[in-house]
This record gives sequence, C-alpha cells and structure tokens, in this order.
Amino acid sequence: MLEAGHIAVLVVEDVPDDAELLFRLLHRGGYDVDSEVVSTADEMREALDRRRWDVVVSDYQLSGFDGLDALRMAKQRDEDLPFILYSGVIGEEDAVRALHEGAADFVSKQRMARLLPAIERELRESEDRRRKREAERALEIEQERFRLLVENEGDLIMLLDPSGMPTYVSPASRRLGRDPSSLLGEGFERFVHPDDVRTLREGLRSLVEQGSGTSATIQARVRRADGEWRVLEMTLTNLLEVPAIAAVLAIAPDVTQRERAEEALLRNAFYDTGTGLPNRASFLQRASAAVERLKGRSGCVLLVLECERIGLVSEVYGRDAARQVLNEAVEALREVVPAPCVIARVGANELAFLLEDAGGDEELSRRVEGLRRRLDAPFAVDGETVHITPAIAAAYVDESSKVEGALRDAEVALRSGENGRTSLEIANRSMRGEALERLRMEEELRRAEEAEQLRLRFQPVVRVSDGSLESAEALVRWSRAPGSLLLPGDFIPLAEQAGIIGSLGRWVLASALEARAGWQRDVGVSVNLSTQQFRDPVLVSEVAAELGRTGVDPGSLTLELTESALLDKPELALVIIRNLKALGVRIALDDFGTGYSSLSYIRRFPFDLLKIDLSFTRDAAADPDAASIVTHTILLAHDLGMEVVAEGVETEEQLRFYRLHRCDYVQGYLFGPPEMSDAFVRRTREEAERRSEPPTPRS
Ligand code: C2E
Ligand code: MG
Ligand code: MG
Repeated sequence: MLEAGHIAVLVVEDVPDDAELLFRLLHRGGYDVDSEVVSTADEMREALDRRRWDVVVSDYQLSGFDGLDALRMAKQRDEDLPFILYSGVIGEEDAVRALHEGAADFVSKQRMARLLPAIERELRESEDRRRKREAERALEIEQERFRLLVENEGDLIMLLDPSGMPTYVSPASRRLGRDPSSLLGEGFERFVHPDDVRTLREGLRSLVEQGSGTSATIQARVRRADGEWRVLEMTLTNLLEVPAIAAVLAIAPDVTQRERAEEALLRNAFYDTGTGLPNRASFLQRASAAVERLKGRSGCVLLVLECERIGLVSEVYGRDAARQVLNEAVEALREVVPAPCVIARVGANELAFLLEDAGGDEELSRRVEGLRRRLDAPFAVDGETVHITPAIAAAYVDESSKVEGALRDAEVALRSGENGRTSLEIANRSMRGEALERLRMEEELRRAEEAEQLRLRFQPVVRVSDGSLESAEALVRWSRAPGSLLLPGDFIPLAEQAGIIGSLGRWVLASALEARAGWQRDVGVSVNLSTQQFRDPVLVSEVAAELGRTGVDPGSLTLELTESALLDKPELALVIIRNLKALGVRIALDDFGTGYSSLSYIRRFPFDLLKIDLSFTRDAAADPDAASIVTHTILLAHDLGMEVVAEGVETEEQLRFYRLHRCDYVQGYLFGPPEMSDAFVRRTREEAERRSEPPTPRS
C-alpha cells in the first residue's frame, strides 16, 4: 500500500550513473524513496521474492537480459505491479510490444522529467486496478458459491417467466429423467399433469398480480421421462422486480413418498382391507353426513347385520372363503337395499347400512324380512353350501350426532338378544343362548376383582440402541376359572359395554404402580387406558392419588391411549392429556395406524410416545406401503419431538428394520412375552447387576 510520500522502487539498471540520476529525480519530487538497484535476472528475482514493491523502473537495454525479460518477470509475480520502462533508444516496434505485454509507460532518457508524473499516475491507477480486481474476484467466488448451491441442491429449482416458461432449470431435473436444457422454454403442458396445469397457471397469475416478494405453494404432478408421475411441492416466489433474477423462483421438492404414505394411511383408516368396503370410522362419517342432509325427514334407520357364521366359515374353509361369502352377502344386500346406500364393514362379521326412507315400523319389519329372506338363501363355498343366517338389528336415528350411539345401541341389542328401546329383530334361537352366556360372563367379571381373579403381566420394552430395558407394559388377564387365563380381547370390550371398565382400570393402575415400586432398576411402567376410562372426570385425580400412595415417580408412568379416545370431542381430549401431563406422567398413543390415524391429526396432541401397531411390524417386510407408512411415521414423530415404540417385534429381521429406521424402542416376543411380576423383578435385578458390573479386563 502506498503511504504518503513513501514508495518502494525497484530499479533495474546496469549503469550506476543512470541509477544515481534516477534517485535524485525521485528525491527531488519529495518522495521518501526506499529503493534497490538490480542489474541481472537473478538479482531481480531475488528482490521480487524478498519483498513487495510499489513500482519497477527498468532500463530497456541491459547487458545479459533486457527490459522485456524484466517486464515478464515482474508481471509473472504480480500482474498489478506497475512497470515503467525508460531507455535511451528504443524502436517504435519494441515500445509497442512492451506496452502490449503490460508495461505501464515508456519514458525516454532524454525526457526524464516525465518519469515522476508517470510513476505517480501509475501508483494511483494500479491501486484502483487492484481494488477492482479484488472486487471482481469476490463476486466470482460468490457467484460460484451460489451456482454450486443451486446445482447440487436435490430439490428442483427453476426460474419462470410470468407465463410459466422456464428460463433456468437446475440439474436436479435429471432426477425426473429430464435434462435441464430440454425443459428450457417449454410450457408446463408438456410435463405437468393436465389436471394440475390450471391450478399452477392460476397460482402463478395471482402471484404475479400480487406483486414482488409474494409467494405461494402449489402441488403438481410432473411426469418423469419414464412416464411415472411424481408429486412436486412447488413454492413459487415472485422475484420479477428483483433485477438480478427478474423471474418467478420455483423451488420444488419431490414429495411423492410422503404423499403415498399419507394416502395409504388414509386408505387404511377408511377402508377395510379384506373387502374394500368402507370401515367403521368411514361409515360413521358418511352416515352422519346423510342424516344431516335428510334432517327434518323422519325415518332414517341404521341397520346392523351380524353374520357370526362367517367366523365359522373362516375357521372351516379359511379366510379367503369367509371374505368371499362376505362379499357375496354385500352383493345380495345391494339387490334389496335401494341405492344410493353406504354398506360398510363395521366389525369382523358385521355389516351396517343406513336406510334413508324406512317408512314406519311396519314398513321396516317388512323390509327387514325381505332382507333376511334374501340372506338366508345358501351361499356356495368350495362346492359346499353354507347358510350365514344373519342377526339383524335396527335403530332409528334423527340427528347426525346420534349415529355413533345408534350403531352401538343396535350392536348391544344384537348381543344382549333383547328387544331394546330401538326397533329390533333377533334372527335365530342360537343367538339367544350366546347372549345368555354373555350376561353370565358379565356378572362374573363384575365379581372378578373381589374374587382375586385379575392378574397383571408385564412385557419388556427395550431400547433399540443397546437392548437395555426401558420399561414394561402392564397387560391384564382374567383367571375366570382355575388354570385358565383370558386375554384382554375376550373381556375388555364386555367390561366397557357393561360399565365395569372403570373399576377394572383402577385395579390395573394401582397394581401396576405397586409392582413398579418393587423393581430394582429405574425402569418405567405403562398402563393402557380404555376410552371410557380416559373420559372419566375423576381420572386425573385418581392417577395423582395412586402416584402419591405408591410413591412412584410420575415420570416413570406412561399412560397409553388409542386413537378412539381422541375422536369424539378432540378439544376435551387435549385438555385431559394436558392435565395428565401436568402431573408429570408420559402419554403414549397406542396401536398407531389401525384407526383414524392421519399423520396431520396426531400433530395436535402432545404425545410423548407413539406405538406403532404390531400389524405394521408384521406387514413391513412384505408390503412396501406398510414399510413406507412406518418409516414416514417414525420421521414425523421424531420431527414432532415424540419417541417411537414398535410393537410385536418377533424376529431379528424386524428388529433390523426398526434399527435401520431409527425407531427408539421395541416390544415383542423377541425380547420376551408378557411375564409375571416376580419374573419381572428378577429381570430388573439382573439388569441392575449387569449395569453395575465393572468392565471385564482384557487379558
Ligand atoms: P396393546 O396395548 O397393543 O398390547 C400389546 C398386545 O400385543 C398384548 O396383547 C401383547 O401380549 C401382544 N404382543 C406383545 N408382543 C407381541 C408379539 O411379538 N407378537 C404378537 N403377535 N403379539 C404380541 P394382549 O395382552 O392380548 O392385549 C391386547 C390389548 O388389550 C392391548 O393391546 C391393550 O389395548 C388391551 N389391554 C391390555 N391390558 C389392558 C388394561 O389393563 N386396560 C385396558 N383398558 N386395556 C388393556
Ligand atoms: Mg398398549
Ligand atoms: Mg398396541
């Protein structure tokens, strides 16, 4: 850098007198000159290496090497270093060549007075040149950086003109099998799905109208070169008035995978996989909508058909045969039920539909009779004929909010075998016997706690990372008769229907916490809550009281809910969950994926844990849809700050799958079946010992 009045001058001169003359000239100009004279190529190289010079002044005619060589050497070191030639004689051609090669000026020895102004000018200009070059270089680096960012970005990036014509396409377009250049100047129509072209055009138009800086996100299906449709989520930003871009910026990640997972989940949530019929959740929704639509017109009747014999068909002839019979029954139904009508599978052997204009009681009985006659006809399975003799129950519905209740009423009526307050038909005598048996069971279940017939089993939940014990899930059993243990599936639904679940649940919570208090290691315990228990207004205070009584740290209790607890009045569910969490208890969503599950729905609730249902664990190996739901669910759950437990892990392969997809915990027969509390105490002790053992020394 040039300081005021101080310059470093390298003089290339082999005549000492001439050098002397030069110095005097510079001193006279008021400069504090720091200079050095060199006369050979080696000396010059050495001087250039040693330090920085502000200017080189060189004689043209030197012995051994000439001014042009000196010029090249100086320029090679530093392009911006000013180089001034002076000489007694020089041909015009040589002078031109020197200027061409970068000499700043040429001064004749006869007119040395010009030298000083020439140096001053050069010092100024070289400084400007240096600054400009640095700025250009910085700009180049910046541009290069942006180019690399854009070109290595996996998401497609495009610049569009206001009509949607791409003016720039990033190399990510190759993922769609399309070369960037092949898309330039092409209208959307060639690669966007016809149904999405309009949305995209309109979105773009309104964005352009709204002006600079606005943005919008639009999904569009784009055809890959191989014909497959991919879903891109395009975020468009209007940068038309930004001079450097002057276009609409489109950033378009490929969200096909996510969309597919959501779709599969929705399908799963609303359709029965066996028959393709709408499932229970979907039926409730559609029937409610129909009742709402028909409001004011009386006579909506909900009919439920239970074909218990289909269960028998399944046992004798296999599941496919049962499904086939069910499908034929649905076909038969369609013949007698006036369209349009939603026929749904609301239970394993249960069909339901809504008669929109049932008429009075008499008309209804007449229709039900017709139905039964049609369904009493034999069905053919494997060359045999079977009768499915359905039991049919009906319930009037006058308000959309009562559809779910009406369905339950009809089902209860079917099971109890009695004529309830709803208009109801019971199909055959054998049903009565079963209904009677159910009533008896209900009575025994009421006394089970008192008779000390309830048992708890604990199933280990382990960490995927190191296989260590994290917690245990408490699962209830009923020893109805000596030596037999009924599983929850055999009596929990009954307990719910009969209103016994409250006291049963209290027993489970109390017993699970007592057991937990006796474990050696700091492992958690989880307890399942049925929907009715969850809705019970005293739940929160009961949980608090039990924690207090047993002295168990609230953080080691997890309460498991299923999605059905959230469906009705989700705002209330949210309040209950918050109140439970305020106690310090953790909340898990159990059996995720089997019900209403929508990934966006669960976002609304602050679960600590998500338990992926065991049916997904079973299916993930063979069914890519299931695998994709699982992997996507894990990602999303982590995103929402929830941990994930996979249920029903029975094989090493399943464990590997979950480890690969970063699932946090696993539970299943691979790590142990539900076991007695004693066995579990042993397990926690062993684990505690294993943990406290000093590491085995290496020999
Ligand atoms: P869940 O909460 O999803 O419990 C897991 C079920 O999967 C248990 O069945 C368990 O024995 C079973 N299981 C565990 N590992 C495997 C495996 O590797 N393969 C297979 N195929 N199954 C496995 P369980 O004990 O029959 O319980 C069934 C359901 O009953 C539970 O499902 C839970 O929803 C409910 N339940 C259990 N105990 C209670 C309770 O105390 N209160 C309430 N309200 N419900 C309970
Ligand atoms: Mg559970
Ligand atoms: Mg579960």
